[in-house]
Amino acid sequence: MAVGAHPDDVEFGAGGTLGRWAAAGTEVTIVVVTDGSKGTWDRTVEPHLLAAIRKDEQRAAAGVLGAAHVVHLDHVDGELQYSMDLRAQICLQIRLARPQVLFGHDPWQRYQVHPDHRVAGLATIDGMVAARDHLFFPEQGVEPHRPDALLLFSADEPDHWEDISGWVATKTEALLCHRSQGTTTMGGADRSEAEATAFRDRIRDRAAELGAPAGLGEAEAFKLIRP
Ligand SMILES: [Zn+2]
Repeated sequence: MAVGAHPDDVEFGAGGTLGRWAAAGTEVTIVVVTDGSKGTWDRTVEPHLLAAIRKDEQRAAAGVLGAAHVVHLDHVDGELQYSMDLRAQICLQIRLARPQVLFGHDPWQRYQVHPDHRVAGLATIDGMVAARDHLFFPEQGVEPHRPDALLLFSADEPDHWEDISGWVATKTEALLCHRSQGTTTMGGADRSEAEATAFRDRIRDRAAELGAPAGLGEAEAFKLIRP
């Protein structure tokens, strides 16, 4: 299970790993915490329409990765507040999906300016802690569950690498499904094939950069926590 603040965060952080694992038979669930309704520079698009577009894009991206499930928690983009309710929601998703491995934003990444990334990361970790023990949120009526590993993406101090050699194209194609983000986070990849190619090259270069310290050709890097 991978928890991202916005549609596309999970693909940026762990898309190659999830694609590779899904192809090997892993059942992948993507949880998107906010509705992505502020993610545009286009003055003409209505937030509720953007949210609907981004759900379609997320579904397409999950299809490219081979992810079996997508869950939207539909909090308002940019306004995510840490709360016991948010912690309970993520706890419930963990108890329902019972993942062996949980992915999330590293909430302790220095100088992470996006409040949703910080809040979603913290709530994912706290939701995992709650999911383990029956006295947390007993009203959920679902068996507790303890993942074997928590992998935090965008970590300042990664200590775990997943080899995505051969899977960078899958990651990139999943990212490009988020067409509404072409202008904002993908450097104009929606405008022309040349800019889409430049975006593909940037993702590949980044995967090579992340893999180098671990002696891997292309990788995603994580902070590993054993719950
Ligand atoms: Zn994001």
